[in-house]
Amino acid sequence: MLTLIMTRAENIPAGFAPGRQIARTAVLAAVLLTVAAIVARRATPSHWLLIPAFWVFANFFEWTVHRFPMHRPLVPRMMYRNHAGIHHGAFADDSMAMGDARELSLIMMPWYTIILLLLAASPVAIVAALIGGLPLAGIFYIGALTYFLFYETIHALYHVAPERLARFGIGSHGRFARMRAHHARHHAPRRMSHVNFNVTVPLADVVFGTRERRDAGPSLSQTAGAGKGAGDVAGPGAATDPGAKAI
Ligand SMILES: [Zn+2]
Ligand SMILES: [Zn+2]
Repeated sequence: MLTLIMTRAENIPAGFAPGRQIARTAVLAAVLLTVAAIVARRATPSHWLLIPAFWVFANFFEWTVHRFPMHRPLVPRMMYRNHAGIHHGAFADDSMAMGDARELSLIMMPWYTIILLLLAASPVAIVAALIGGLPLAGIFYIGALTYFLFYETIHALYHVAPERLARFGIGSHGRFARMRAHHARHHAPRRMSHVNFNVTVPLADVVFGTRERRDAGPSLSQTAGAGKGAGDVAGPGAATDPGAKAI
């Protein structure tokens, strides 16, 4: 645990302030949401009804970005270094909780990531604009931004100690606990490049067969030779791979 704490401390930039990081992300998201709402101001009710469809798209986009640039050393490797190296190096499945608020630096995406992700998804916005006009593109960006905020919030909560969450009525059972367990399974160092790439709702994991549960069956490393792969980074607990099952 001492090694883990030192590793975390080494990777937190000097002068990092968790409140400033949250404020930057929130203000940028609020500005972008305002712009998207202005673009969408003439949207019809049928345009707004497409928001759930855009969230489903975002779920598959999340799975794809997490599985590939965040867990494969693809050029320019920034996302791989930040996520597979720093985030997973700091938090293993048996040490998911932050020790103090400055460790938020190891969890939240850099503030500018929101812009890069919106740009990466822009072909869909262009198609939406061609089909339904600019208001539909605005609706798409409202869906993308709300999904991003949900991702960042729930991911940070997964890394808060359960006893702290309990003080705010966020329980150790129910849907949130199941989603947290899903993400904790992904943090097993030998499993992270293979399973549970959805941080939010595991829809794409179910569709692509990468959902792994802790409760039963042999591990993928035993059944498919999927032990230490190209994207794996050894970390605390890397030698352990308790029983699990991909469904
Ligand atoms: Zn995490
Ligand atoms: Zn990951």
